[in-house]
Amino acid sequence: MDILVVLENNQGSLHRLSKEAIVGAQMLGDSVSAIVMGNGSGEIAAQLEGYDLEKVIIVDHELVRSYNADGYSEVLKQVIESLSPKMIVAGHTYQTRDFMPRVSAKLEIPFIPDIISLSDDGFIKQILNSKLNAKISSSSGQLILSFQSAAFSEEDIRSGSCQPEAFDAKLDPTNVRSTSEEPFQEAVGDVDLESAEILVSVGRGIEKEENVPLAFELAKTMGAEVSASRPVVDSGWIDSFRQVGSSGSNVAPKLYFSLGISGAIQHVVGMKGAKSIMAINKDSDAPIFEIADYAIVGDVLEIVPKLIEALDQS
Ligand code: FAD
Repeated sequence: MDILVVLENNQGSLHRLSKEAIVGAQMLGDSVSAIVMGNGSGEIAAQLEGYDLEKVIIVDHELVRSYNADGYSEVLKQVIESLSPKMIVAGHTYQTRDFMPRVSAKLEIPFIPDIISLSDDGFIKQILNSKLNAKISSSSGQLILSFQSAAFSEEDIRSGSCQPEAFDAKLDPTNVRSTSEEPFQEAVGDVDLESAEILVSVGRGIEKEENVPLAFELAKTMGAEVSASRPVVDSGWIDSFRQVGSSGSNVAPKLYFSLGISGAIQHVVGMKGAKSIMAINKDSDAPIFEIADYAIVGDVLEIVPKLIEALDQS
């Protein structure tokens, strides 16, 4: 096996970034396998049927039924020692950020996180608050990599077949001392921006808190979730879990509809992976228009009510 993809198990469903990581792994080599741990691993393995993977390694051990950094890092260490993959790849999720550095330290394998694309002789990642792209290469025989949201499209997964295979991890309760709290997503009422297909995103151009329900109304009409820029969150107009950007979520919806967002780099890094971007801004020179597929120059407070009305009638 050349490449091992570490899958993230969201209580029996596969994390979107894990699917993107499979695409990245398939681009890096032909011999790709995956590993999944935790409750519902069997269901995840079933969801992978039809993907071109050599095998899906299932670790069903009571000490990793739910996520904990000690258990996950120890299991992955044992799997890597046993199978010696050249590359270990994962989506750049909160979980990856939490336990992958431990695996890197335990095995002394370099970890290159948050990669946005591959190049012939290295990996591209953003540096200096996303102002520059850097190419990183390594002479190490083994590497751990994580891919930024939307680095790859799950639609490009190579199809084929894969076989589940159990791995007998040896875990000692005295070494598994960390426990995790309930998943963040549940605590915020099942809003998962990273999996949303359509996002209506509110910027400071909405002008005041009283106007925010307009965005929620538009989102409801479109079957969308609501996200926001940081100033809107900082003003307390919208909950912080809805923030998109370098200090919020990275999203890759089919449609990102921004309402009065200027397009600052710290915002754009979190949404540039959207398949289609539509933006309303009253300033025709707003930077958001440089990346928008559809640019609407005008006042959100005039356009959005008319749009809701038109959508309601259609
Ligand atoms: P503004 O930049 O104020 O833009 C408002 C836009 O609305 C303007 O373009 C204006 O023309 C338009 N407008 C005004 N009124 C109307 C109207 N009636 N109709 C139509 N258009 C109108 N930002 C994030 O979003 N996410 C982050 O994660 C993030 N992290 C950061 C981290 C750091 C370390 C720093 C320094 C900054 C971060 N920021 C982040 C802030 C970022 O730099 C910008 O300040 C922010 O994205 C701007 O938000 P905005 O576009 O809503 O507001």
